[in-house]
Amino acid sequence: MDYFQLKDGVLHAENVSLAAIAEAVGTPVYVYSRATLERHARVFREALSGLPSIHLAFAVKSNPNLAVLRVLAREGYGADVVSAGEMHRALAAGIAGSDIVFSGVGKTAREMTEALDAGLGQFNLESEEEGVELAALAAARGVRAVATLRVNPDVDARTHAKISTGKAENKFGVAYDAAPAIYARLCALDGLEMRGLAVHIGSQIGDLEPSRQAFLKMGALMESLRSQGLEVTHMDLGGGLGVPYRSGESLPGPAEYGAMVASVARDWGVTVMFEPGRVISGNSGVLVTEVIRVKPGAINPFVVVDAAMNDLARPAMYDAWHDFAAVTPTGETMIANVVGPICESSDTFAMGREIDAVKAGDLAVFRTAGAYGATMANTYNSRPLVPEVMVDGDKWSVVAERIEPAAILATERVPEWLE
Ligand SMILES: *Cc1c(COP(=O)(O)O)cnc(C)c1O
Repeated sequence: MDYFQLKDGVLHAENVSLAAIAEAVGTPVYVYSRATLERHARVFREALSGLPSIHLAFAVKSNPNLAVLRVLAREGYGADVVSAGEMHRALAAGIAGSDIVFSGVGKTAREMTEALDAGLGQFNLESEEEGVELAALAAARGVRAVATLRVNPDVDARTHAKISTGKAENKFGVAYDAAPAIYARLCALDGLEMRGLAVHIGSQIGDLEPSRQAFLKMGALMESLRSQGLEVTHMDLGGGLGVPYRSGESLPGPAEYGAMVASVARDWGVTVMFEPGRVISGNSGVLVTEVIRVKPGAINPFVVVDAAMNDLARPAMYDAWHDFAAVTPTGETMIANVVGPICESSDTFAMGREIDAVKAGDLAVFRTAGAYGATMANTYNSRPLVPEVMVDGDKWSVVAERIEPAAILATERVPEWLE
């Protein structure tokens, strides 16, 4: 459920007309609904009430906007970060260092040092080598880094190959069979306080069975560590729950996910940690765009919009579907291709799709664009960096300004020897 609804024939975010925002800010522009973010944060938390002790860390990479992070901080969420840059955003949003989890396969020594200095809550180690390096950095500062070991459970999440992370051939975590010996060796290091295991098998997961298999394997691994006399107090089950992108599509939601997790992990005797991203942020945002013109095509007309693959990369990167809807629908529909202005055929949002009828100058939205939307935006084709707006009831504010090509041009230099 979200708060992007028609009111008096105009699509609104909560009580604010998207036409009014487009008029004031220009297009393309991302618009987030605070009430939707809060609703998803609460629904996800409530779905896990079957577990005795949980920790929630919002996956910052899905939507790192400062205002979005502030909303989630106020909902009691920590943060899952994958770079020092994301860590500094989470801290700037008011999330305590102790509530931040540092994930990622390539943490540099410099990033780990910054994280130690910020008193980071947990490092999810992706290799023994990383653990040894972190232990040395921590010991040199006279501290112990709290850590878990990320394990690759070798299950197929049955999602898009580019966002599948839990198969043996993927770069993430240590091999399942090697984990007990690595965990034992890391426990022996002075600079580390190993407290458990972590797993994350992929994103946009629409079938809970692979996750259940992975969690069962993690439970077995936890038992084997305990039988070696090693302590396990935390188990991080990652994120990855999918969201419906097409109207009418039905996926397992937080309630089913929570019941599945509880059935596996209720009696583990640990704090179970989660790193949800998309399920919180995905439906909380839309990308508002204006139709530049409609041109005839060989089979269907091309609706050329002013948003492009640099603003919303998911269709080009993952063949992803985003529902396209007019801001002031007439009730008429058309079959069309929806494309952006960029000089690549991958700059295509929809082919041969039945959409609300639109013409030049009309406003429209791509729905479910709150996750992996603005954060993946770039300035390809020397386009502006897309701005972001947050709505809260009747109020709205620009929460990230449009960065104009001139501002980027001003950072570039022609070297003396070319003058
Ligand atoms: C990307 C990622 C997440 C969040 O994934 P979602 O599908 O957005 O929930 C959580 N944990 C890790 C380690 C990730 O890489």
